[in-house]
Amino acid sequence: MSTPPRIAVLGAGLAGLAAATQLIRDGHDVTVFEARDRVGGRLWSETMEAGGGEHVIERGAEFVLDGYSLFREYCERHGLELVDTGMSYYIRTPVDRPGVTTDDMESLGTAAARRAEASAGLSVADVLDDIEANGPVREALEARVEMSTAVRTDQVVARGTLDHVASFDPGPSWRVSGGNQRLPCAMAEGLGGRVALGRRVEAVVQSAHEVEVVLDDGREVFDYVVAALPFSLVAPGGDVALDLSQEKRDAMARVVQGHAAKLHLGLKRAPETSAVMNVSDRFWTWTAYETPGRVAPVINSFGGELDHLIALGLENGAQTWEDRVRTQRGDLEIMERSAVLTAWSLDPMAQGAYTAHAPDFSDGDFVALAAPEGRVHFAGEYIDPEYTGLMEGALRSGESAAQRLMKTLSGAES
Ligand SMILES: Cc1cc2nc3c(=O)[nH]c(=O)nc-3n(C[C@H](O)[C@H](O)[C@H](O)COP(=O)(O)OP(=O)(O)OC[C@H]3O[C@@H](n4cnc5c(N)ncnc54)[C@H](O)[C@@H]3O)c2cc1C
Repeated sequence: MSTPPRIAVLGAGLAGLAAATQLIRDGHDVTVFEARDRVGGRLWSETMEAGGGEHVIERGAEFVLDGYSLFREYCERHGLELVDTGMSYYIRTPVDRPGVTTDDMESLGTAAARRAEASAGLSVADVLDDIEANGPVREALEARVEMSTAVRTDQVVARGTLDHVASFDPGPSWRVSGGNQRLPCAMAEGLGGRVALGRRVEAVVQSAHEVEVVLDDGREVFDYVVAALPFSLVAPGGDVALDLSQEKRDAMARVVQGHAAKLHLGLKRAPETSAVMNVSDRFWTWTAYETPGRVAPVINSFGGELDHLIALGLENGAQTWEDRVRTQRGDLEIMERSAVLTAWSLDPMAQGAYTAHAPDFSDGDFVALAAPEGRVHFAGEYIDPEYTGLMEGALRSGESAAQRLMKTLSGAES
């Protein structure tokens, strides 16, 4: 009897866990290597003291948005419930541009999206120039786009971005009751001890017959690998050495790494739900339900785009950002010394927030990003065509990578 192929999955974020789940269900021998001492990657839920109690905060991904069918399916499978946040992720009032309303932003956004649909290869900034958008409404719209994509408007493709990531429909948004990280934790538990925590991958070296995974504490040999690592780590010049074809390198050159950070501040008492943005500093703050109908006494803040994060001085801590939140949210009683800062660009196991596409990114690039390189398959939020950058995209990419590998394996067996 032949031994089943040994498969290594690199990374225990949603993408790696989804790939491992599929492969194990198909009867394969899988080991997941995760550098951190926890699973979930860019899903990281913790509790903080505020308003006289403990509350769950999301230091990474927060909003479960419309269309997250696979995310919902996994939640159901693991008995996890979603809570409506009671505010819309999509609608944020620009407080530092008096007179500019969310309706103004939506009108300009709709005109720009229409123009973007008519022409490929333009950035959001190009499209706004084309339709001669100017003044504070343009500034607010650019801020909104940069906060969603986490990259500058001159670096990101207009088509798809304006009507998808930076949509202005007041749709609802949800999060997992008790914390989004409960999902990857439940998925890892379902893998029954096959996740090896605290084992950092340094390189992947393959021959015609096997793949060697070089770890910080040794080397292990497998038949196949699924690399489900963050984009910046696997892209050319990244920390994990991998052989990449020229086609994949070219496609990766048209992926843009976004940068974002989060700041949580405790409140003395629970407020109403809210969502307001600071145009000049590219951050927004919100207050939301943590259980149905009950707002947490916590201000959540998200800041996006590298230049603006640098201007907030995050390398030296949260003080500048906290001061600006206090100015922006004079309506709320913020507790002293409650700040929790999470700077994803300074995290060596993420090196950024999530990805977006450059103006010259093409549909063919999706094919190249997803294509295996010999015995090495790829998964991660940067690969999914429809939900790039998002939790749903990470899960979908993991399942797709597993399916591609299973097809290869069934071909090899027959
Ligand atoms: C601030 C922020 C806000 C976000 N908000 C939202 C949101 O509201 N909604 C939404 O849908 N998405 C959001 N996202 C995006 C979402 O978090 C990601 O798309 C998704 O979690 C990516 O999953 P992944 O499996 O591709 O990568 P990851 O979760 O990064 O998983 C990769 C894993 O690889 C591990 N790893 C790294 N290096 C090594 C190594 N050398 N060896 C072994 N393991 C390694 C990492 O520790 C990690 O566990 C947000 C992200 C951030 C940072």
